[in-house]
Amino acid sequence: MTKVQSKTKVIATLGPASSSREVLEEMIMAGVDVCRINFSHGDPSAHTETIKTIRAINKERGLNTAILADLQGPKLRIGEVENNGVELIAGEDILITTKACVGTSKQVYITYPQFPQDVKIGETVLIDDGKIVLAVKDTNKDNEVVATVVHGGILSSKKGVNLPNTHISLPSLTKKDLQDLRFALENDVEWIGLSFVRKATDILELKHIIQKNNKNARVVAKIEKPEAVKDIDNIVKCADALMVARGDLGVEIPMENVPLIQKMLVQKALEAHIPVIIATQMMESMIHNYNATRAEVNDVANSVMDGADAVMLSGETSVGSFPVRVIQTVQKILAQVEGFEGIYHKRHQSSAPQKNRMISDAICFNSVNVAEQTGAAAIVAMTHSGYTAFYISSFRPKSGIYIFTGNQALLNTLSLVWGVKGFFYDKMVSTDHTINEIKDILKHEGLVKTDDLIINVASIPMHEFGKTNMMKLSFVE
Ligand code: PGA
Repeated sequence: MTKVQSKTKVIATLGPASSSREVLEEMIMAGVDVCRINFSHGDPSAHTETIKTIRAINKERGLNTAILADLQGPKLRIGEVENNGVELIAGEDILITTKACVGTSKQVYITYPQFPQDVKIGETVLIDDGKIVLAVKDTNKDNEVVATVVHGGILSSKKGVNLPNTHISLPSLTKKDLQDLRFALENDVEWIGLSFVRKATDILELKHIIQKNNKNARVVAKIEKPEAVKDIDNIVKCADALMVARGDLGVEIPMENVPLIQKMLVQKALEAHIPVIIATQMMESMIHNYNATRAEVNDVANSVMDGADAVMLSGETSVGSFPVRVIQTVQKILAQVEGFEGIYHKRHQSSAPQKNRMISDAICFNSVNVAEQTGAAAIVAMTHSGYTAFYISSFRPKSGIYIFTGNQALLNTLSLVWGVKGFFYDKMVSTDHTINEIKDILKHEGLVKTDDLIINVASIPMHEFGKTNMMKLSFVE
Protein backbone atom coordinates (compact mmCIF):
# COMPACT_ATOMS: atom_id res chain seq x y z
CA MET A 1 0.00 0.00 0.00
CA THR A 2 1.43 3.41 -0.94
CA LYS A 3 0.54 6.63 0.82
CA VAL A 4 -1.95 8.90 -0.95
CA GLN A 5 -0.15 12.15 -1.71
CA SER A 6 -1.55 15.43 -3.02
CA LYS A 7 0.36 18.64 -3.68
CA THR A 8 -1.79 20.41 -1.09
CA LYS A 9 -0.82 19.17 2.35
CA VAL A 10 -3.31 17.78 4.86
CA ILE A 11 -3.12 18.38 8.61
CA ALA A 12 -5.12 16.26 11.02
CA THR A 13 -5.66 17.18 14.66
CA LEU A 14 -5.27 14.09 16.82
CA GLY A 15 -7.47 13.16 19.74
CA PRO A 16 -9.40 10.23 21.18
CA ALA A 17 -10.82 9.33 17.75
CA SER A 18 -7.41 9.06 16.12
CA SER A 19 -4.71 8.27 18.66
CA SER A 20 -4.73 4.47 18.27
CA ARG A 21 -1.91 3.16 16.12
CA GLU A 22 -4.34 1.45 13.75
CA VAL A 23 -6.49 4.52 12.99
CA LEU A 24 -3.52 6.88 12.86
CA GLU A 25 -1.68 4.67 10.40
CA GLU A 26 -4.77 4.40 8.21
CA MET A 27 -5.19 8.18 8.28
CA ILE A 28 -1.55 8.81 7.37
CA MET A 29 -1.69 6.32 4.51
CA ALA A 30 -4.94 7.94 3.34
CA GLY A 31 -3.09 11.25 2.98
CA VAL A 32 -2.21 13.02 6.25
CA ASP A 33 1.09 14.92 6.04
CA VAL A 34 1.13 16.68 9.40
CA CYS A 35 -0.28 15.55 12.74
CA ARG A 36 -1.43 18.36 15.02
CA ILE A 37 -1.29 17.93 18.76
CA ASN A 38 -3.57 20.47 20.37
CA PHE A 39 -2.26 21.45 23.80
CA SER A 40 -5.66 22.86 24.74
CA HIS A 41 -6.65 19.23 25.34
CA GLY A 42 -5.05 16.03 26.62
CA ASP A 43 -2.18 15.44 29.02
CA PRO A 44 1.58 15.00 28.50
CA SER A 45 1.51 11.21 28.84
CA ALA A 46 -1.13 10.95 26.09
CA HIS A 47 0.89 13.36 23.90
CA THR A 48 4.08 11.34 24.51
CA GLU A 49 2.33 8.18 23.34
CA THR A 50 0.96 9.92 20.23
CA ILE A 51 4.39 11.28 19.29
CA LYS A 52 5.94 7.82 19.73
CA THR A 53 3.28 6.29 17.50
CA ILE A 54 3.80 8.86 14.72
CA ARG A 55 7.58 8.40 14.80
CA ALA A 56 7.18 4.60 14.74
CA ILE A 57 4.88 4.76 11.69
CA ASN A 58 7.36 7.09 9.96
CA LYS A 59 10.22 4.73 10.62
CA GLU A 60 8.45 1.56 9.59
CA ARG A 61 6.94 3.00 6.43
CA GLY A 62 9.74 5.38 5.45
CA LEU A 63 7.50 8.45 5.77
CA ASN A 64 8.17 12.02 6.90
CA THR A 65 4.96 12.92 8.73
CA ALA A 66 5.53 16.16 10.64
CA ILE A 67 4.25 17.06 14.09
CA LEU A 68 2.65 20.42 14.79
CA ALA A 69 2.43 21.21 18.51
CA ASP A 70 -0.26 23.83 18.92
CA LEU A 71 0.13 26.02 22.03
CA GLN A 72 -3.06 27.35 23.56
CA GLY A 73 -1.78 30.92 24.02
CA PRO A 74 -3.75 33.44 26.10
CA LYS A 75 -7.10 31.72 25.58
CA LEU A 76 -9.74 33.08 27.96
CA ARG A 77 -12.33 30.84 29.57
CA ILE A 78 -15.06 30.95 32.16
CA GLY A 79 -14.85 28.50 35.10
CA GLU A 80 -17.11 25.64 36.12
CA VAL A 81 -20.82 26.39 36.38
CA GLU A 82 -23.37 24.61 38.56
CA ASN A 83 -25.28 21.65 37.13
CA ASN A 84 -22.83 21.96 34.20
CA GLY A 85 -25.14 24.52 32.58
CA VAL A 86 -27.11 27.62 33.62
CA GLU A 87 -29.39 29.83 31.57
CA LEU A 88 -28.51 33.47 30.93
CA ILE A 89 -31.54 35.62 30.09
CA ALA A 90 -31.35 38.71 27.86
CA GLY A 91 -31.67 41.97 29.82
CA GLU A 92 -30.40 40.52 33.12
CA ASP A 93 -27.05 41.40 34.68
CA ILE A 94 -24.26 38.96 35.50
CA LEU A 95 -21.20 39.48 37.69
CA ILE A 96 -17.90 38.32 36.17
CA THR A 97 -15.29 37.74 38.87
CA THR A 98 -11.59 36.93 38.83
CA LYS A 99 -12.02 34.97 42.10
CA ALA A 100 -12.50 31.25 41.47
CA CYS A 101 -16.08 30.11 42.16
CA VAL A 102 -18.70 27.75 40.77
CA GLY A 103 -20.78 29.84 38.37
CA THR A 104 -24.54 30.50 38.47
CA SER A 105 -26.81 32.60 36.28
CA LYS A 106 -25.83 35.61 38.47
CA GLN A 107 -22.06 35.17 38.78
CA VAL A 108 -19.29 33.51 36.81
CA TYR A 109 -15.50 33.13 37.11
CA ILE A 110 -13.13 34.23 34.32
CA THR A 111 -9.53 32.92 33.94
CA TYR A 112 -8.12 36.39 33.29
CA PRO A 113 -6.88 38.26 36.39
CA GLN A 114 -6.45 41.64 34.66
CA PHE A 115 -9.94 41.59 33.10
CA PRO A 116 -11.45 44.31 35.38
CA GLN A 117 -8.44 46.59 34.66
CA ASP A 118 -8.28 45.97 30.90
CA VAL A 119 -11.99 46.12 30.00
CA LYS A 120 -13.93 49.32 29.33
CA ILE A 121 -17.63 50.04 29.81
CA GLY A 122 -19.61 49.25 26.65
CA GLU A 123 -17.18 46.60 25.38
CA THR A 124 -18.52 43.23 24.23
CA VAL A 125 -17.94 39.87 25.92
CA LEU A 126 -18.58 36.84 23.70
CA ILE A 127 -18.88 33.38 25.24
CA ASP A 128 -18.90 29.95 23.58
CA ASP A 129 -18.02 31.00 20.03
CA GLY A 130 -20.22 34.09 20.30
CA LYS A 131 -23.36 32.13 21.13
CA ILE A 132 -23.78 34.27 24.27
CA VAL A 133 -23.27 38.04 24.03
CA LEU A 134 -22.73 40.36 27.02
CA ALA A 135 -22.13 44.13 27.21
CA VAL A 136 -19.90 45.49 29.98
CA LYS A 137 -21.86 47.80 32.31
CA ASP A 138 -19.39 48.47 35.09
CA THR A 139 -15.98 47.46 36.45
CA ASN A 140 -14.48 47.95 39.92
CA LYS A 141 -11.02 47.90 38.25
CA ASP A 142 -9.99 45.26 40.77
CA ASN A 143 -11.72 41.89 40.62
CA GLU A 144 -15.29 42.30 39.39
CA VAL A 145 -17.09 43.34 36.22
CA VAL A 146 -20.86 43.69 35.79
CA ALA A 147 -22.24 42.89 32.33
CA THR A 148 -25.72 42.87 30.83
CA VAL A 149 -26.84 39.85 28.82
CA VAL A 150 -27.53 41.02 25.25
CA HIS A 151 -28.12 37.57 23.81
CA GLY A 152 -28.72 34.76 26.28
CA GLY A 153 -28.55 31.00 26.19
CA ILE A 154 -27.25 28.04 28.15
CA LEU A 155 -23.84 28.76 29.65
CA SER A 156 -21.86 25.59 30.31
CA SER A 157 -18.56 25.02 32.13
CA LYS A 158 -15.17 26.19 30.83
CA LYS A 159 -16.44 27.78 27.62
CA GLY A 160 -14.12 30.10 25.69
CA VAL A 161 -14.41 33.87 26.00
CA ASN A 162 -13.57 36.37 23.24
CA LEU A 163 -13.19 40.09 23.86
CA PRO A 164 -13.09 41.57 20.37
CA ASN A 165 -12.72 45.22 21.47
CA THR A 166 -10.58 44.83 24.59
CA HIS A 167 -6.85 45.41 24.66
CA ILE A 168 -5.72 42.26 26.49
CA SER A 169 -2.60 42.71 28.61
CA LEU A 170 -1.84 38.99 29.11
CA PRO A 171 1.58 37.72 27.93
CA SER A 172 1.57 35.86 24.59
CA LEU A 173 3.03 32.74 26.25
CA THR A 174 1.25 31.72 29.44
CA LYS A 175 2.77 29.54 32.18
CA LYS A 176 1.01 26.55 30.63
CA ASP A 177 2.39 27.44 27.18
CA LEU A 178 5.94 27.56 28.54
CA GLN A 179 5.51 24.09 30.04
CA ASP A 180 3.96 22.74 26.83
CA LEU A 181 6.72 24.38 24.80
CA ARG A 182 9.39 22.68 26.90
CA PHE A 183 7.66 19.35 26.27
CA ALA A 184 7.37 20.02 22.53
CA LEU A 185 11.03 21.00 22.23
CA GLU A 186 12.20 17.99 24.24
CA ASN A 187 10.28 15.86 21.76
CA ASP A 188 11.81 17.64 18.75
CA VAL A 189 8.54 18.52 17.06
CA GLU A 190 9.03 20.20 13.69
CA TRP A 191 6.36 22.91 13.97
CA ILE A 192 5.03 24.92 16.91
CA GLY A 193 1.75 26.82 16.57
CA LEU A 194 1.09 29.89 18.68
CA SER A 195 -2.54 30.81 19.30
CA PHE A 196 -3.89 34.34 19.68
CA VAL A 197 -0.80 36.02 18.23
CA ARG A 198 -1.30 39.80 18.50
CA LYS A 199 1.94 41.16 17.10
CA ALA A 200 5.21 40.15 15.46
CA THR A 201 7.10 40.34 18.75
CA ASP A 202 4.97 37.45 20.10
CA ILE A 203 6.60 35.29 17.42
CA LEU A 204 10.07 36.67 18.09
CA GLU A 205 9.71 35.87 21.78
CA LEU A 206 8.79 32.25 21.00
CA LYS A 207 11.62 31.95 18.47
CA HIS A 208 14.08 33.29 21.01
CA ILE A 209 13.16 30.47 23.42
CA ILE A 210 13.46 27.85 20.66
CA GLN A 211 16.90 29.17 19.72
CA LYS A 212 18.06 29.33 23.33
CA ASN A 213 17.23 25.62 23.57
CA ASN A 214 19.26 24.92 20.41
CA LYS A 215 16.23 23.55 18.58
CA ASN A 216 15.10 24.03 14.99
CA ALA A 217 11.32 23.94 15.41
CA ARG A 218 9.57 26.41 13.09
CA VAL A 219 6.73 28.64 14.18
CA VAL A 220 3.18 28.85 12.83
CA ALA A 221 1.49 32.16 13.65
CA LYS A 222 -2.21 31.49 14.18
CA ILE A 223 -4.09 34.51 12.92
CA GLU A 224 -7.27 34.82 14.95
CA LYS A 225 -7.12 38.34 16.48
CA PRO A 226 -7.87 41.65 14.76
CA GLU A 227 -4.54 43.00 16.10
CA ALA A 228 -2.68 40.24 14.22
CA VAL A 229 -4.49 41.07 10.98
CA LYS A 230 -3.33 44.69 11.43
CA ASP A 231 0.29 43.68 12.10
CA ILE A 232 0.38 41.05 9.36
CA ASP A 233 3.19 42.66 7.32
CA ASN A 234 5.52 42.38 10.30
CA ILE A 235 4.22 38.95 11.31
CA VAL A 236 4.99 37.38 7.91
CA LYS A 237 8.54 38.68 8.19
CA CYS A 238 9.27 36.61 11.29
CA ALA A 239 6.80 33.69 11.27
CA ASP A 240 7.72 30.49 9.40
CA ALA A 241 4.07 29.82 8.48
CA LEU A 242 0.59 31.28 8.95
CA MET A 243 -2.62 29.61 10.00
CA VAL A 244 -5.95 31.19 9.13
CA ALA A 245 -7.64 30.13 12.39
CA ARG A 246 -11.16 30.82 11.24
CA GLY A 247 -12.87 29.63 14.43
CA ASP A 248 -11.72 32.37 16.76
CA LEU A 249 -11.13 34.82 13.91
CA GLY A 250 -14.82 34.62 13.00
CA VAL A 251 -15.77 35.49 16.58
CA GLU A 252 -13.23 38.27 17.08
CA ILE A 253 -14.20 39.97 13.83
CA PRO A 254 -17.54 39.75 11.99
CA MET A 255 -17.54 36.33 10.32
CA GLU A 256 -18.56 37.79 6.98
CA ASN A 257 -15.14 39.48 6.91
CA VAL A 258 -13.28 36.16 7.17
CA PRO A 259 -13.42 35.10 3.47
CA LEU A 260 -11.59 38.21 2.24
CA ILE A 261 -9.16 38.11 5.16
CA GLN A 262 -8.43 34.47 4.22
CA LYS A 263 -7.58 35.57 0.68
CA MET A 264 -5.43 38.45 1.94
CA LEU A 265 -3.52 36.21 4.38
CA VAL A 266 -2.86 33.58 1.69
CA GLN A 267 -1.51 36.27 -0.61
CA LYS A 268 0.75 37.72 2.11
CA ALA A 269 2.11 34.25 2.91
CA LEU A 270 2.81 33.46 -0.76
CA GLU A 271 4.65 36.76 -1.14
CA ALA A 272 6.67 36.07 2.00
CA HIS A 273 7.43 32.52 0.72
CA ILE A 274 6.02 30.88 3.84
CA PRO A 275 3.35 28.17 4.01
CA VAL A 276 -0.25 29.02 4.91
CA ILE A 277 -2.78 26.70 6.52
CA ILE A 278 -6.55 27.08 6.27
CA ALA A 279 -8.19 25.79 9.44
CA THR A 280 -11.48 25.14 11.17
CA GLN A 281 -14.85 23.80 10.10
CA MET A 282 -13.52 22.57 6.74
CA MET A 283 -15.40 19.28 7.02
CA GLU A 284 -17.25 20.07 10.26
CA SER A 285 -20.40 18.09 9.48
CA MET A 286 -18.31 14.93 9.07
CA ILE A 287 -17.73 14.94 12.84
CA HIS A 288 -21.09 13.15 12.89
CA ASN A 289 -22.05 12.55 9.26
CA TYR A 290 -20.80 9.98 6.77
CA ASN A 291 -20.74 12.56 3.96
CA ALA A 292 -19.59 16.20 3.78
CA THR A 293 -21.92 19.03 2.76
CA ARG A 294 -21.61 20.63 -0.67
CA ALA A 295 -20.52 23.86 1.01
CA GLU A 296 -17.67 22.08 2.82
CA VAL A 297 -16.46 20.45 -0.39
CA ASN A 298 -16.48 23.87 -2.03
CA ASP A 299 -14.65 25.40 0.93
CA VAL A 300 -11.76 22.92 0.69
CA ALA A 301 -11.55 23.37 -3.10
CA ASN A 302 -11.71 27.17 -2.87
CA SER A 303 -9.00 27.25 -0.20
CA VAL A 304 -6.69 25.44 -2.62
CA MET A 305 -7.67 27.86 -5.40
CA ASP A 306 -6.86 30.76 -3.07
CA GLY A 307 -3.36 29.27 -2.79
CA ALA A 308 -3.33 27.42 0.54
CA ASP A 309 -0.39 25.12 1.28
CA ALA A 310 -2.40 22.99 3.65
CA VAL A 311 -5.94 22.35 4.82
CA MET A 312 -6.50 21.39 8.42
CA LEU A 313 -9.02 19.19 10.18
CA SER A 314 -9.84 19.70 13.85
CA GLY A 315 -12.80 17.97 15.52
CA GLU A 316 -13.32 15.96 12.33
CA THR A 317 -10.26 13.82 13.11
CA SER A 318 -9.80 14.36 16.86
CA VAL A 319 -13.27 13.46 18.11
CA GLY A 320 -15.26 12.69 14.94
CA SER A 321 -16.88 9.41 13.99
CA PHE A 322 -15.12 9.11 10.59
CA PRO A 323 -11.45 10.12 11.01
CA VAL A 324 -10.21 8.03 8.04
CA ARG A 325 -13.13 8.72 5.73
CA VAL A 326 -12.74 12.47 6.20
CA ILE A 327 -9.12 12.25 4.97
CA GLN A 328 -10.23 10.15 1.99
CA THR A 329 -12.91 12.74 1.20
CA VAL A 330 -10.44 15.63 1.40
CA GLN A 331 -8.01 13.75 -0.87
CA LYS A 332 -10.75 13.20 -3.47
CA ILE A 333 -11.45 16.95 -3.50
CA LEU A 334 -7.73 17.77 -3.76
CA ALA A 335 -7.29 15.33 -6.65
CA GLN A 336 -10.02 17.15 -8.57
CA VAL A 337 -8.93 20.69 -7.86
CA GLU A 338 -5.26 19.95 -8.52
CA GLY A 339 -6.30 19.08 -12.07
CA PHE A 340 -7.29 22.74 -12.52
CA GLU A 341 -4.62 24.87 -14.25
CA GLY A 342 -5.66 28.00 -12.36
CA ILE A 343 -4.01 26.87 -9.12
CA TYR A 344 -0.51 26.82 -10.63
CA HIS A 345 2.12 29.45 -11.34
CA LYS A 346 1.33 32.20 -8.87
CA ARG A 347 3.55 34.90 -10.27
CA HIS A 348 4.73 37.27 -7.61
CA GLN A 349 8.16 38.60 -6.85
CA SER A 350 9.35 39.38 -3.38
CA SER A 351 9.01 43.12 -2.90
CA ALA A 352 12.53 44.01 -1.84
CA PRO A 353 15.26 41.63 -3.04
CA GLN A 354 17.64 40.92 -0.17
CA LYS A 355 21.22 41.37 -1.22
CA ASN A 356 22.51 38.18 0.41
CA ARG A 357 19.72 36.12 -1.16
CA MET A 358 19.53 37.80 -4.56
CA ILE A 359 21.28 35.05 -6.52
CA SER A 360 19.44 32.11 -4.96
CA ASP A 361 16.09 33.93 -5.10
CA ALA A 362 16.60 34.73 -8.79
CA ILE A 363 17.53 31.11 -9.58
CA CYS A 364 14.54 29.69 -7.66
CA PHE A 365 12.04 32.16 -9.15
CA ASN A 366 13.32 31.55 -12.66
CA SER A 367 13.49 27.78 -12.26
CA VAL A 368 9.71 27.93 -11.93
CA ASN A 369 9.39 30.19 -14.98
CA VAL A 370 11.64 27.88 -17.01
CA ALA A 371 9.63 24.89 -15.79
CA GLU A 372 6.45 26.52 -17.06
CA GLN A 373 8.03 27.47 -20.39
CA THR A 374 9.51 24.04 -21.05
CA GLY A 375 6.90 21.83 -19.39
CA ALA A 376 9.66 20.26 -17.27
CA ALA A 377 8.57 17.25 -15.24
CA ALA A 378 10.48 18.25 -12.14
CA ILE A 379 12.39 20.94 -10.33
CA VAL A 380 15.03 19.27 -8.19
CA ALA A 381 16.84 21.16 -5.48
CA MET A 382 19.44 20.38 -2.88
CA THR A 383 19.17 22.26 0.36
CA HIS A 384 20.32 22.08 3.94
CA SER A 385 18.26 24.91 5.46
CA GLY A 386 15.12 24.28 3.40
CA TYR A 387 15.03 27.87 2.15
CA THR A 388 15.05 26.80 -1.52
CA ALA A 389 12.12 24.45 -0.94
CA PHE A 390 9.95 27.11 0.71
CA TYR A 391 10.88 29.64 -1.95
CA ILE A 392 10.24 27.46 -5.03
CA SER A 393 7.00 26.11 -3.59
CA SER A 394 5.61 29.61 -3.09
CA PHE A 395 5.44 30.08 -6.89
CA ARG A 396 3.30 26.92 -7.19
CA PRO A 397 5.04 25.22 -10.14
CA LYS A 398 3.03 22.54 -11.90
CA SER A 399 6.10 20.32 -12.15
CA GLY A 400 7.10 18.18 -9.19
CA ILE A 401 9.30 19.79 -6.51
CA TYR A 402 11.81 17.20 -5.30
CA ILE A 403 14.06 18.27 -2.48
CA PHE A 404 17.23 16.35 -1.64
CA THR A 405 18.81 16.99 1.73
CA GLY A 406 21.18 15.41 4.22
CA ASN A 407 19.21 17.13 6.97
CA GLN A 408 16.90 14.34 8.19
CA ALA A 409 14.80 16.59 10.45
CA LEU A 410 14.13 18.96 7.56
CA LEU A 411 12.37 16.18 5.63
CA ASN A 412 9.58 16.16 8.23
CA THR A 413 9.45 19.97 8.35
CA LEU A 414 8.89 20.10 4.59
CA SER A 415 5.78 17.91 4.87
CA LEU A 416 3.82 21.12 5.52
CA VAL A 417 5.06 22.85 2.37
CA TRP A 418 2.89 22.75 -0.76
CA GLY A 419 4.03 20.40 -3.55
CA VAL A 420 7.32 19.46 -1.91
CA LYS A 421 8.48 15.86 -1.74
CA GLY A 422 11.68 15.34 0.20
CA PHE A 423 14.43 12.72 -0.10
CA PHE A 424 17.35 11.97 2.15
CA TYR A 425 20.64 12.40 0.27
CA ASP A 426 24.00 13.12 1.79
CA LYS A 427 26.53 12.18 -0.88
CA MET A 428 28.05 15.30 -2.35
CA VAL A 429 30.66 13.77 -4.67
CA SER A 430 30.41 16.07 -7.66
CA THR A 431 27.61 18.05 -9.28
CA ASP A 432 27.38 15.81 -12.34
CA HIS A 433 27.52 12.61 -10.30
CA THR A 434 24.79 13.88 -7.94
CA ILE A 435 22.53 15.08 -10.74
CA ASN A 436 22.77 11.69 -12.46
CA GLU A 437 22.24 9.76 -9.28
CA ILE A 438 19.20 11.86 -8.36
CA LYS A 439 17.69 11.24 -11.79
CA ASP A 440 18.05 7.52 -11.18
CA ILE A 441 16.39 7.82 -7.77
CA LEU A 442 13.44 9.76 -9.23
CA LYS A 443 13.13 7.31 -12.10
CA HIS A 444 13.22 4.39 -9.72
CA GLU A 445 10.44 6.04 -7.65
CA GLY A 446 8.33 6.41 -10.80
CA LEU A 447 8.33 10.21 -10.50
CA VAL A 448 10.09 10.85 -13.83
CA LYS A 449 10.59 8.75 -16.97
CA THR A 450 12.92 8.60 -19.96
CA ASP A 451 12.92 11.82 -22.04
CA ASP A 452 11.40 13.92 -19.25
CA LEU A 453 13.08 17.27 -18.81
CA ILE A 454 14.26 18.06 -15.32
CA ILE A 455 15.62 21.27 -13.83
CA ASN A 456 18.30 21.00 -11.18
CA VAL A 457 19.09 23.91 -8.93
CA ALA A 458 22.01 23.62 -6.55
CA SER A 459 24.97 25.33 -5.02
CA ILE A 460 28.35 24.73 -6.63
CA PRO A 461 30.87 23.77 -5.52
CA MET A 462 28.60 21.32 -3.71
CA HIS A 463 30.83 20.48 -0.75
CA GLU A 464 30.74 24.12 0.41
CA PHE A 465 26.99 23.94 1.25
CA GLY A 466 26.52 27.49 -0.02
CA LYS A 467 23.40 29.18 -1.32
CA THR A 468 21.77 28.06 -4.58
CA ASN A 469 23.70 29.56 -7.48
CA MET A 470 23.20 27.27 -10.49
CA MET A 471 20.44 25.88 -12.67
CA LYS A 472 20.87 23.01 -15.12
CA LEU A 473 18.33 21.57 -17.58
CA SER A 474 18.71 18.02 -18.83
CA PHE A 475 16.70 15.06 -20.08
CA VAL A 476 16.24 11.80 -18.24
CA GLU A 477 17.91 8.98 -20.15
P1 PGA B 1 -8.07 26.25 17.86
O1 PGA B 1 -7.66 27.24 16.69
O2 PGA B 1 -8.40 24.94 17.25
O3 PGA B 1 -6.89 26.23 18.76
O4 PGA B 1 -9.27 26.89 18.49
C1 PGA B 1 -8.27 27.25 15.47
C2 PGA B 1 -9.30 28.35 15.33
O5 PGA B 1 -9.55 29.15 16.24
O6 PGA B 1 -9.86 28.40 14.24
